[in-house]
Amino acid sequence: MSNPDTILVTGGAGFIGSHTVVELLQAGYAVVALDNFANAKPSVISRICTLAGRDFTFVEGDVRDPGCMAALFRDHPIQTVIHFAGLKAVGESTRVPLTYYQNNVTGTLNLLEAMRGAGCRNLVFSSSATVYGDPAEVPIREDSPLSATNPYGRSKLMIEEICRDLAKSEPGWRIALLRYFNPVGAHPSGLLGEDPQGVPNNLMPYLLQVASGHRPHLEVFGQDYPTPDGTGVRDYLHVVDLALGHLAALKALPRIEGAIPINLGTGRGYSVLEMIQAMEKVMGHPIPWQFGPRRPGDIALCYANPDRAHTMLGWRAERDLMAMCSDGLTWIKSNSSLNSALA
Ligand code: NAD
Ligand code: UDP
Repeated sequence: MSNPDTILVTGGAGFIGSHTVVELLQAGYAVVALDNFANAKPSVISRICTLAGRDFTFVEGDVRDPGCMAALFRDHPIQTVIHFAGLKAVGESTRVPLTYYQNNVTGTLNLLEAMRGAGCRNLVFSSSATVYGDPAEVPIREDSPLSATNPYGRSKLMIEEICRDLAKSEPGWRIALLRYFNPVGAHPSGLLGEDPQGVPNNLMPYLLQVASGHRPHLEVFGQDYPTPDGTGVRDYLHVVDLALGHLAALKALPRIEGAIPINLGTGRGYSVLEMIQAMEKVMGHPIPWQFGPRRPGDIALCYANPDRAHTMLGWRAERDLMAMCSDGLTWIKSNSSLNSALA
């Protein structure tokens, strides 16, 4: 690219953001990344540069700070924003809902105001399959009914509505509302991955900590769901595929008018027991687990109809469950001293 587009990546030091910045740099974009390190470590920045073999602009700052956001657009020729910054723990969101609405909703409002002020109307937003609530049908299409059962999910739904209203109110907005299913795995180099604080809530990070001997066993939440083996089914997606989905969305934005939701998932659901089996296959030995009660608020089945991502973005997930497990293992094994939960 002779005159590369400049992309602002909020939450660029986070799990999905860091992988996306690597792919953007490798594809030749100029990147300005913002993060307040609420859920990331500064060491991620140099790792991104190492992997990409290139430098980028990093700003430590907060999307809730209007002055910081205005300065970003004043100082850099930003054409498009990829907005990852936000808090994402469902359980925590029920305990401190105002923190979640402040961070996710107010933060996004500030960002959108700054974008309007600067005449930048291209946005790729991190939404979530959680906006489908307990889906009536699987695979889930983008026109399925929307609902939310906790403040985190409601914050995503509110932001989607704000984006739809904004796009209706004035022409020129091109917004991809990317609804991620279950991002897992890590960069195959072992340099980037998910670093949950405290005891992991999600299956894959917990499973990885059991597989690597850092926790005694996995508890499988529920065995009587209406699924083939009675355990919950989800659409697990390799984080590198997800990062590439953002590049595909970026390229497709000129063809998008208004605010369009797009599922990013593989279209294939795996049960908790299938995930354990996959991890055992990669490890070459059994992983200790036991059944426990259902987790309150959990749904039985959740997997995407990914057709729109294919037709609109030309994107499909390519990495399989083995890659998700083995890349996750490489990450946890090479970073156990860095990892918040294991340090
Ligand atoms: P993450 O916590 O690793 O990344 C988010 C980043 O945003 C962190 O680095 C954090 O420090 C930063 N951040 C938070 N609040 C900020 C603020 N006010 N100002 C600046 N930076 C701030 O999470 P992730 O898994 O990479 O998720 C990225 C986005 O994708 C989030 O919006 C999340 O809700 C959404 N999402 C994630 C998943 C998932 O399972 N990981 C699923 C669906 C949607
Ligand atoms: N799960 C589990 N044990 C755990 C964590 C999760 O059995 O320690 C199950 C959970 O009940 C669900 C699936 O694994 O069926 C995926 O859970 P996760 O929290 O990763 O994703 P989400 O439910 O938010 O889609």
